[in-house]
Amino acid sequence: MGDATLGHKVRGSVLRQARPVSVAVMTVWASGFLTSCAAPVAQLPDMAKDVVAAEQRAQQIAQLRRYYSERHRMDAVAFRIRTANVAACKDRIAAQIGLTAATPRSLPRRYQSYASEALSIGWSRPTAISVVEGSPAAQAGLVAGDELTALNGDLIPLWGTANWMWRKIAENGTDPVRLDVRRDGVDRTVTVTPVMGCSIPVEYHIDETVNASASDLKILITSGILALTQSDAELALVIGHELAHSTLGHLDKQRWNTIVGAAAGAAIDVGILAGGVSTGGAFRKQFGGLGAMAYSVGFEREADYVGAYYAARAGYDTKGTEEIWRRMAFVQPQSILSGRTHPIMAVRFVQIQKTTAEIEDKKRRGRPLEPELKSADADPAPAVEAAARH
Ligand SMILES: [Zn+2]
Repeated sequence: MGDATLGHKVRGSVLRQARPVSVAVMTVWASGFLTSCAAPVAQLPDMAKDVVAAEQRAQQIAQLRRYYSERHRMDAVAFRIRTANVAACKDRIAAQIGLTAATPRSLPRRYQSYASEALSIGWSRPTAISVVEGSPAAQAGLVAGDELTALNGDLIPLWGTANWMWRKIAENGTDPVRLDVRRDGVDRTVTVTPVMGCSIPVEYHIDETVNASASDLKILITSGILALTQSDAELALVIGHELAHSTLGHLDKQRWNTIVGAAAGAAIDVGILAGGVSTGGAFRKQFGGLGAMAYSVGFEREADYVGAYYAARAGYDTKGTEEIWRRMAFVQPQSILSGRTHPIMAVRFVQIQKTTAEIEDKKRRGRPLEPELKSADADPAPAVEAAARH
């Protein structure tokens, strides 16, 4: 039974009725219609419940593994961005070691029944699930899979593990910390020397919306935009863009800033809804406000420009990273011709090329990788206005 039949009947019935049809009548009619055509005609294969249940669990395990694998990639790029740009974050900084540990209990409840198997983590001791390459934890020889029992002599809790460790290390500062570690049944104590980095959390959400956003509290990266990046340098450009919104004070004027503008507010609402918090369309409404738009395009261009410097300072080669805007233009074709809150993709593409040329020139001359501002010691505001005029 095809859609054409359904369409014809609906059109026919509406045309015959000169007066409005009540919702109740339409509902009864539609449900009767659907019931009459709902049964499949093919002889479907029988499936044992336990076979389906086993596949379901396999999918859960694969999903969780992939989530944490992608998150590790994001954490690694974010760590380099945070530490290379610590000066730009002013007082919003914290000591960190580039390691995340977890127990099944420390993860959201819905993951707990399969997290141990998926991530090879035990219930009785926190286990490192992510050690960022080149981080203090990695330099101290720690690897994913190491069990961690104590930090500076304090027992590491089995609940809220990652947050507890983050807080303890932040309080500790850059003095060496002692971690009691068990690997292959052998206990030892490892000394790790934290480094300072920007402290704004960078979170990873499973959400097919191709976007990233920044608020005062956090940066959000969606799986949609992570999948669009074809290199860590492109991901660094995305994270750098969001960090720039935060460091340049754009957030004081606009509650949220995102990486793409088309229906950006609605995308954030959906993203937050997916995370379990209903915004009631608040961001969409806010994005509709003209006040929030006043400097929007200028802010976005500035975040692209400064964000590219943040990526370059973290050691990423920004050459070719402008390709992400061509890919974005493909998935959001309306952004090729118009942009209300954000520059059109052609502007973003060309600007990253120009910024890369500027960065490469500074590298050749041995000059510091500082974005050009109107005057050396000015706050970002004049640069924003300059960008908004162009
Ligand atoms: Zn933005």
